[in-house]
Amino acid sequence: MMDDNSLGVLIGHMNDRQKQAEAVYAALRTNERIRKKARTLVYRCPNRTRCALAEVYASPAGVLIHHPSYKLSRDLNEQGSSADGRAANTTDGDRHWKVRTYFLEAAVNLALNCDHVHHVVIDREHVEWHIREGITTHIVHPDTA
Ligand SMILES: [Zn+2]
Repeated sequence: MMDDNSLGVLIGHMNDRQKQAEAVYAALRTNERIRKKARTLVYRCPNRTRCALAEVYASPAGVLIHHPSYKLSRDLNEQGSSADGRAANTTDGDRHWKVRTYFLEAAVNLALNCDHVHHVVIDREHVEWHIREGITTHIVHPDTA
């Protein structure tokens, strides 16, 4: 069993890793050319707007996942979220959902959302497989992901 201190160290490490993920993405955002070159894979919605649902940046230091911000229609937003969730994860307390950036190791799956795709889940193993296969764009279909 872990003592309190090693649990503290572990949690500290996780926080550092999360900060690292956000810092890496912020650095990528400063140069669009490098960001696009570094991007391994992007998940997009099947609508003609092809919303970017998740960007994947594979590196030896880890697989970075970035979900762009998105806005949901009023009805879908009401149906698909709780008031607590909206308060915590939107920029306006309503329907403008915040960006999320993290390392793949921190997630069991990716939850994908836009006005056309709702809580479509892709397992981590699936993402790893797409990376290995060299897939650069994957159009998500609500039934099959
Ligand atoms: Zn969409």
